[in-house]
Amino acid sequence: MVFGNTTPLPMGVGDYQSNVMNEDRQADSPPTIKLSPRADRQPETLRRKEIVDAVTNQSFNEWYQEQQFTENILVGRPYFNGVSPPPESEKHSPSKLLQCHRKVRYYGENAPKEGASPEGLFWVGTKFEEEIVVPYLLEAVTKENTYVRNSMWIDSEIETSDRIVRVKGMTDPVVVDRDGDPILVTEIKTTSSLEYLDGPKPHHKAQLHAYMHALDEEYDRSIRDGLLLYGSRETLDIRVFHIAFDDRFWSETVVPWMAQQTRFRENDELPPGDPVFDWECNACPFAERCGKADSGFENVGFVGLLPGNDTYRKPQLIEYFDAYPDAKLTPTLAHKFPKLTEEHDVCEWECRDCGATYDWDAVDVESPLCQVCANDGELRTLHVPKPDDQWE
Ligand code: SF4
Repeated sequence: MVFGNTTPLPMGVGDYQSNVMNEDRQADSPPTIKLSPRADRQPETLRRKEIVDAVTNQSFNEWYQEQQFTENILVGRPYFNGVSPPPESEKHSPSKLLQCHRKVRYYGENAPKEGASPEGLFWVGTKFEEEIVVPYLLEAVTKENTYVRNSMWIDSEIETSDRIVRVKGMTDPVVVDRDGDPILVTEIKTTSSLEYLDGPKPHHKAQLHAYMHALDEEYDRSIRDGLLLYGSRETLDIRVFHIAFDDRFWSETVVPWMAQQTRFRENDELPPGDPVFDWECNACPFAERCGKADSGFENVGFVGLLPGNDTYRKPQLIEYFDAYPDAKLTPTLAHKFPKLTEEHDVCEWECRDCGATYDWDAVDVESPLCQVCANDGELRTLHVPKPDDQWE
């Protein structure tokens, strides 16, 4: 006699056995299932394995991205989601001032980033500012009738000898009066260690100068002083520099930098690969297309993925396709992220000798050889169009 559900147990459950206890069963009661001691443990093992398998870098990155997206909407800054269009040629962001012109152009034009973006540094920087420095300023620094604003918008035009440039963005915390008007502006940075910090970094000083210039223009009160505060990510010690507005630094260094970057944009030029600071190339997500990473590429423009390069990550690729919906994947990336091929075209392989072309998945990606040439007795390697030619 058979009692209860006789559906076989799922594959992989192993020796999980149910023993229907016929002798205990009353005519109108459901069957009782008795589990052997080993069978009792097995489902827990499977559940644990599922959990262990679910914790991956990919699922974490996807969750974090989604969480950031939701958070931006929650706090009223949906414009941070997705990519920004290239900036108007005269408009400059305080956080990019005085850095490598080429890198700033790559960022502005949403060139694809080879490698990861330093999300961890951004996260630590934001937490340090919002959860440590702002409460510190509020509770231990401001006195009667002075308050703190998390940030203030700035938007200011500057006349140069041959053009007008504009600096637009958001400040770091500002000490304000009871009307909310600025008294003193800050720029907060974190650093791996304060030990080797020998003074304010010029691009951070430039950023603070942009805030001071814009706030000084907008308010009746003179805003000619700022604080540059560095916090150690290791010890949480801080080091603070009082920065007084330096007219010469502003007019002879910062403003000419803006005018030069504007000229590069107006001429639609890829600026020279000329870092301003030693650290820039090491921390640059465009070093491979720029030519500073010994990867066989140099002076690559703003669009197109580097053939054979598998260092692109999914979040960065999604950003790139947001900016350039008609861009194509390379075969290497199509194999790495097959889901993306559902929405994006993939470059074909091409033989530069006979002109034959092949679908991305029609040849061995590890050893892409031309079959037409092989039939003629020649072994010829197939290629993927260069980044600039990936649009045709
Ligand atoms: S690798 Fe160096 S030179 Fe090239 S864009 Fe980046 S910072 Fe500039």
